[in-house]
Amino acid sequence: SLSDRLAGVFDKLRGRGALSEDDVRSAMREVRVALLEADVALPVARDFVDQVTERAVGAEVIRSVTPGQMVVKIVNDALVEMLGSDTAELHIDVNPPAVIMMVGLQGSGKTTTTAKLAKRLAERERKRVLMASLDVARPAAQEQLAVLGRQASVDTLPIVAGQTPVQIAQRALQSAKLQGYDVLLLDTAGRLHVDDTLMAEMKAVAAASNPVETLLVVDSLTGQDAVNVAKGFAGEVDLSGVILTRMDGDARGGAALSMRAVTGKPIKFAGVGEAIDALEAFHPSRVAGRILGMGDVVSLVERAAETVKIEDAEKLARKMEKGKFDLDDLRLQISQMQRMGGLGALANMLPGMKGLKGANVDDKALVRLEAMMSSMTAKERARPEIINAKRKIRVAKGSGTTVQEVNKLLKMHQEMSNAMKRLKKLGGFGKLASMFS
Ligand code: GDP
Ligand code: MG
Repeated sequence: SLSDRLAGVFDKLRGRGALSEDDVRSAMREVRVALLEADVALPVARDFVDQVTERAVGAEVIRSVTPGQMVVKIVNDALVEMLGSDTAELHIDVNPPAVIMMVGLQGSGKTTTTAKLAKRLAERERKRVLMASLDVARPAAQEQLAVLGRQASVDTLPIVAGQTPVQIAQRALQSAKLQGYDVLLLDTAGRLHVDDTLMAEMKAVAAASNPVETLLVVDSLTGQDAVNVAKGFAGEVDLSGVILTRMDGDARGGAALSMRAVTGKPIKFAGVGEAIDALEAFHPSRVAGRILGMGDVVSLVERAAETVKIEDAEKLARKMEKGKFDLDDLRLQISQMQRMGGLGALANMLPGMKGLKGANVDDKALVRLEAMMSSMTAKERARPEIINAKRKIRVAKGSGTTVQEVNKLLKMHQEMSNAMKRLKKLGGFGKLASMFS
């Protein structure tokens, strides 16, 4: 497994502070293999690895985890981020009927997924849904949708022989309007490969029905081929999202990353079986876990990171107990504040800081504060009182800020330091530490 391979790579590296470029590169070779084994398309795997390498080099290894575990966590987070958010919803709150066009290759699961989605919208969102099959290429295709419609208790457009896909789409739209349906789902014909005839038909149907959602249905077992399918469709029709089918099978989910990378569109649902209700919202973190096969490592590192945060906060509290609070501490605190939702949030939580003049800062200001502190020497951060006029000018120049801003930072530090002392008198450190964790 990836875990064993990474353990091998990092055996020698235990205990180092930050990940070096060499460390990361050797780990990434293993990650790349894992991605390919999960059927991520080669060019996508390559791009992804390059991106993550950049992010991982120099990353601090959290105490009590190995560098290999750290890399897995970084890779996992990047995967989740790329796979998208958990809330990729359909945008069907338009003037009805909202038209949803389903496209994809033959056998990808379009017809089944059309019925599943119709049922979901009818049941969960209480929409009045109409389905129509535009598949005149396969003899029983329209009848298949009618059967599924009866199973799902969703209406289907009556079948009229001899019509073209565009004519059926127009008739469906007309019926949906006249009969007051909220949503119209159009199940289009597929082919075995992306070709010109298929695309021409798709465009003509889109022009006739003006869909608000055009969903590409892809078999997650397609693996390496997924990229070509995605490119073929994305280049021709204006996709709004992707549905991956057969996620119940042994696919490791690599197609998800490929689809997302190539189309740039969110994956909205996952098909997880043949049954009419086997359709789920797409969960990026679950799929990332499947791709890497390393869910345990990820939660292990998350727990370790939590512990470290608490330890850091306790260390800071102890330092402040002794009446020491230098700019390094402020810097540490600012990064903790950023994690907690900004300085404003903190200032409101701490009674001693409410009146702070300098506390009126937004997230952009936090970035500027960080820049100023990075431009100081370690000595200056440890003993802010040595920062004279000349040093202030240097810091301002180095951080792209002004001397006034440097003054403001120093004043803020001074006031916070005073506030800490006030808090100490009130015996509030335990409380403070728990807020930082
Ligand atoms: P179409 O040609 O794209 O319309 O594909 P169909 O909807 O006819 O589906 C082809 C086959 O795939 C059918 O036997 C479906 O039951 C099956 N299928 C579709 N989605 C899923 C899924 O999520 N999981 C599984 N196991 N089978 C699926
Ligand atoms: Mg079909």
